[in-house]
This record gives sequence, structure tokens and C-alpha cells, in this order.
Amino acid sequence: MTTKLRVTIIGAGLGGLVAAIAAKRAGLEVRGFEQARAFGEVGAGIQLGPNAVKVLRALDLEHGLFEFGAQPRNHVARSWKSGRELFRSPTRDACVEQFGSPFFQVQRSDLHEHLRSALPDDTFLLNKQMTGFTQNRDSVVAHFRDGTEVESDVLVGADGIHSTVRNELLGAEKPRYTGVICWRGQVEASRLPPDLIPPDSLNWMGPGGCVVHYFVRPGRLVNWIAHRQVDVWADESWSKPGDKQELMDAFTGWHPSLLRMFEATETCFKWALLDRDPLPTWTKDRVTLLGDSAHPMLPFFAQGGAMAMEDGYVLARALASGADPIAGLHAYEALRKERSTRVQLSSRARADSIQTTSLLARVRRDVGFKVDQWLRPAGAIRRADWIYGYDATAVPL
Ligand code: FAD
Repeated sequence: MTTKLRVTIIGAGLGGLVAAIAAKRAGLEVRGFEQARAFGEVGAGIQLGPNAVKVLRALDLEHGLFEFGAQPRNHVARSWKSGRELFRSPTRDACVEQFGSPFFQVQRSDLHEHLRSALPDDTFLLNKQMTGFTQNRDSVVAHFRDGTEVESDVLVGADGIHSTVRNELLGAEKPRYTGVICWRGQVEASRLPPDLIPPDSLNWMGPGGCVVHYFVRPGRLVNWIAHRQVDVWADESWSKPGDKQELMDAFTGWHPSLLRMFEATETCFKWALLDRDPLPTWTKDRVTLLGDSAHPMLPFFAQGGAMAMEDGYVLARALASGADPIAGLHAYEALRKERSTRVQLSSRARADSIQTTSLLARVRRDVGFKVDQWLRPAGAIRRADWIYGYDATAVPL
């Protein structure tokens, strides 16, 4: 009789859930632990590029996206004050044509529930905070705040940017404040003038900031994120209520349609963007990391969640492909590290270009957009080929 490989997953975010679904479907024994007392993602949006959708398709979960998600017609960039269009890149049909998969923008809670319902209810135990682990030649034991212990063959830290697994594995190191504060909010379309928000993904680029908005429930609910460069450190909790007047003050002089959208939003939240450098390794013996615990990234390519999902799928494939779990973990890291590091560093570089305060750099950037638009009308999407064209479900192990 063969015994199933026992995999412990810490954290039921997007990465942990996808890893659990893929590992279970690959025939592994999965036990998950989440510190929260209840499931429930915050009310915020998330963009799912074609590469993320391919992972969900392989898990037979793409269908739900068509039910609850929005597909943006175009990606459009506008100038912060005048609203002048800087570029427009067809997205909805172009992604299917070029990458074989759609582009979705969804409510996180809808996506989280969709993933969670693909797992038996007892896969993740709630209110279980992992505090540390010990490992020997044959197994790894996770320790929890309530005094319990769980032994398995492999331990996966899918526990986000403040990962305990990462700290235990590689030593504690504080994430760095990037100098950018964010506000986020959501507004019912019925509270806005008709046609104020087109069914596109919009990025308003300004000196020292940018604002992104898109529908997360088609025609009904708009999600926005507003970034502003500020020198002071602040807490980075996603769920801290923000002061709307402070938001309005921070965006004084920006385009009236943005201010109208902020005004119509009932509650906004504020947090600080944090960053970390790429790690030299994610794996030691029977323990590895995935998603934000391994490679937190700035949101300027909207790929952190997508990378976590790709990680989860590849990890399950690697563990299921051979008899030696340690070799499987190393194969996973070898396959994922170069790609996620590239996305992590490219997201950092993009932040500088989008929010530059230099007039010269802005003029150069915007002229570049115009020339590119003229030469290659779907340029922006095509340039993302290395991100969107990737298929984590098909790359050779
Ligand atoms: P998390 O989602 O952080 O999940 C970690 C889980 O582990 C949590 O549930 C936590 O409670 C649990 N946990 C933590 N510690 C413990 C412990 N000790 N014991 C037990 N459980 C524990 N990505 C995209 O792909 N597209 C986007 O459009 C996008 N937009 C973004 C916009 C902004 C403003 C930001 C900040 C990020 C954005 N991202 C986006 C990034 C994305 O949100 C993250 O990369 C993604 O959610 C990371 O998933 P994860 O599963 O690795 O970690």
C-alpha cells in the first residue's frame, strides 16, 4: 500500500487555497491552517490576468469568473489633471486572441469564496495560528498558538507578507516602507452619474501618485485604488478606515471625475505599501514558501495574487511528480524563482515610471506611449506577453 504525501499549508489566502486545491486533485493529503476566526476576504478588487485564469481553468474553476467577474474592454491610461488619454490597449478580446485566456477583474470575496467552495470544509482549520516549526530527517512538525502540533512530510508557508514561516526559516526582517500611501474604496455605479466610469481598466497617472479603477461586478460595483507618495511611515493593514477628507486633500487638483468618484464612496481604507527584496532561497529541507511570503511585490503589474496562484499550482505538480518530497520542493523553487523575481523587480520599476515627479520623465514617457500606440495599437497588452503568455500548468517540470 502506498501512503499519500502529507502536506501542511499555513494560510488560506489565494496562494494557500490554490495550492490546497491543486495538491488534493493531485492525490496528496492536505491539511490547511488559517489564523483568522472566519473566512472572509476584504471588500476589494483584484485583477486576474490570463496567466492566473489559466491556473483556474486547469482546476476547472474558470467558469465561476464568467458568472461574477468583469472583463475590461480596454486598458486605458489618462493624465491625472486633464484626463487626456495617454494610451488605450484593447484587452477583452485581445487577451483571448493572444493568450488563449480572458482577463478578469473581480471582487476578492467572490473569488475567495469560489476557491474555498472547491475544497471540502475540513481542509482548512480556522483560528489556528502557527507559531513555529521543527523538522528532522523524516518529517516536519508545525506548532500552533493553542499548543497543538501537526506532523507532515512537507510544510508550506502561504502566510503572506508578514510570514511567520519565512521568519522562522530565514530570520526576521522587517518589510520596507516604499514611500507610497494607498487608499482604496468601492462605489455602487448607481451612486455615480451614468457613464462616468467606462467598462475599462483606467489608470490615471500623475506626479507623485496614480489612481486605478475598474468594475468588479459588471455594471454595478466599481473598485478604486489611489496611490500617493508620502514620506511618513504608516500601518499597512488593509482594513484601517481612512479619512475621506484627507484623501480628497491628497488629490486636490486631480480630474473632477475622480473626485466625484471619491466623494460618492461611503467608506475608504488607507494603508502603506511595503516592499521586500528578492530572497536568496525559499526552501530549507521540508519547508518552503509561496506567494507573498516568498516574494511580496508592489501592485503596479497587478500580479502578486497571480504569482501566488501559479506557485500553488506548480508546487502541487512538483510534489506529485516524484517520490522524494525534498527534491519536489527544490524543483518547485527552481521553476518559480526566476519568474516571480522578475515580476517583483519589474513592478518596482513600473512604480517609478507611473508616478514620476519629473516633468521631463513624464513628457518622455507620454511621448513614448503615443509613438508606441501609433506603431502598435495593442502594444501594452503585447508587451506583457512574458507575463500573460505564461502557462504554469504546462511548463515542463
Ligand atoms: P495572503 O493573501 O496575504 O494570505 C495569507 C494568509 O495567511 C492570510 O489569510 C493570513 O491570515 C494567514 N496567516 C498569516 N500568518 C499566519 C499564521 N501564523 N498562521 C496561520 N495563518 C496565517 N495581485 C493580483 O494578482 N492582482 C491585483 O490586481 C492585485 N492588486 C493589488 C492591489 C494592492 C493595493 C495590493 C497591496 C496588492 C495587490 N495584489 C494584486 C497582490 C495580492 O493581493 C497578493 O499578492 C496576494 O493576495 C497574496 O496572496 P497570498 O496567498 O500569498 O497571501
